[in-house]
Parts: sequence; structure tokens; C-alpha cells
Amino acid sequence: MGDPFDLGAGWLEEHVLVPLLYQFGLMNWEDVSYGWALFALYGIAQVAVTFAVCLPLERWRPVERWPDNRAVWVDAAYTVLSRVGVLPLVTYVLFYRIQVSVSGWMADRGLVPPTLEGVFPFLLGQQALTFVLYAIILDFADYWRHRLSHQVRWWWALHSLHHAQRQMTFWSDDRNHLLDDLIAFVWFGAIALLIGVPPLQFPLLVLLLRFLESLSHANARVSFGWLGDRILVSPRFHRAHHGVLAAGQRSCNYGAVLPWWDMLFGTADFARDYVRTGDPSGEEALATGSYAQQQLAGLRRFLRVVARSPARHGM
Ligand SMILES: [Zn+2]
Ligand SMILES: [Zn+2]
Repeated sequence: MGDPFDLGAGWLEEHVLVPLLYQFGLMNWEDVSYGWALFALYGIAQVAVTFAVCLPLERWRPVERWPDNRAVWVDAAYTVLSRVGVLPLVTYVLFYRIQVSVSGWMADRGLVPPTLEGVFPFLLGQQALTFVLYAIILDFADYWRHRLSHQVRWWWALHSLHHAQRQMTFWSDDRNHLLDDLIAFVWFGAIALLIGVPPLQFPLLVLLLRFLESLSHANARVSFGWLGDRILVSPRFHRAHHGVLAAGQRSCNYGAVLPWWDMLFGTADFARDYVRTGDPSGEEALATGSYAQQQLAGLRRFLRVVARSPARHGM
């Protein structure tokens, strides 16, 4: 009660969403309209917090300065669209619907949906610990999704849009091809269902993880120190992942939030220092085009690879 998000979501639901749903004959979505409004508002707050934390960092210790930063504005559009529009819709509305159907389907067959507490009973009642464990498992799954997206040729064609940015800033986390986003959501959602993340916790987890991912893209000379960089992905660590590869160099640092998986599976590189970012192999539209031009260029690159035969990326 009195929570500004609660009040705002109630207002949005009553005055915007329900009238819209009614107008388009979609009243069967009414039960999720409040949650949708709530997570859209959390999305706005998240963008505001990200901005308030990252902009001062970028002003304080910028890695690069650009006289013309129009390409950054396209990334900002990606971020707002994704955090306020798409993510609340897919991580709350869609995930909720899918979870309800899956548990209903399982209950009809006398099956119990899996949960982490079911496998490890000592977690019962330990909400904070369970939340952290969910985050760790999802980050582990994301490490492999990301690593594969660099190795499978058609997948790299899509993911290269994320790497095309030569003016990388905290806005760059969401510059992804829509198909790449779709695969990431199915991957993430499937793992979340499998380990039984509750429908309200899933969007909260995504909010938290994506905040840290935005920070890791910041155009800032920021490292968490020798030990800190090995605990949490820092701007320095993720910039090495975005670095233009020198001859004979391999891609490194796939972890989104935790560098542990890179250390465990031999893909960590803590030595690369604030390198230049970008993907010289892609066409210019991927780097500096408008939103639509980037999406089309990504699709063209994807279709060219599919037409040629889906072999593995030479890595
Ligand atoms: Zn990547
Ligand atoms: Zn990135």
C-alpha cells in the first residue's frame, strides 16, 4: 500500500491497459495486465538507475571519446524498447502463461513441476539463498548460450549485430538481433521452467542480471581489482569480449554476470586491457545503421550463412 509502483501500475492498468484490451477483444489477458504494468514501471526505474550509475562512470573515466555519437542513440532506443516494452511482456506475461500451462499439463498427469527446493529440501524457506542460486544457474546456462552463439555460424551471423558497435556504452547490452533475442528468451525461459523459478521471481532476476550486464558494457576504465574481476564481470572484463581480435587471438570472456564459467572452462582472459571494440567482418549497416537497417543487415547475414550450409564457425 502506498508503494508508488503499485499505485502507478494500478493506474496504468485501469486507464490504459484494460481499455486497450477491451477495445481489441483481448480481455482474456486482463489477469496479467497489472503485473505487466508493474514490470514495465520496474523497467523504467531500472533504466533510470542504470543511467544514474553508468553515466557518471563514463564521464569520470571514459575509455574512448567520440565527436559524433549518433550510433549510441540507436543503442539507447534498443534499451528502452527492450527494458520497458519487450522484457516485461516476455518475462512476466509470457512466462506466467507458459508456467501455468506447463504446471496444469503436468498436474493432469499426476506429475509435480520441478523446483530447486524439491531437489534440495534445505532450501525450503530460504528465499534469498534460493534467489541467488537461481541467478547462478541462469548465468551458467547463459554462458553456454553465448559461447555457442559465437561458434555456430548462423548464430554468429545474428549475434555479430551485438558486436558491431564500435562506440560501446552501457546502452549497448540490448543491441541484439530480434531472432537472437528470441532464442535467448526460449533458452533462458526453458531453464527457468526446468529449475522451477516462480513466475514473479523470473522478471526480478532478469531485472537484476540485466542491470549488471548494462554496467559491464560501460565505456569506462573500471575494473573491480584482481579479485573483484574474478568474482563479478566488470566493464574491463566484458570489453575484452568485445575487442577486435588480433591475428591468432581467440574470443574470450563469454560470462554475462559471473566470470567463473570462463575461468572453469578456459575461456577467461584477464590480460586484455581496454581494447578497441567492433566487428570488422560485418557490413557497415550493422554498426552505424538505424534500428531497422541493423535488423535487416543481421537478417541478410543470417540468410547468407543458412543458404551456404550451417557449418561451425572456425574457432
Ligand atoms: Zn558475444
Ligand atoms: Zn556484450
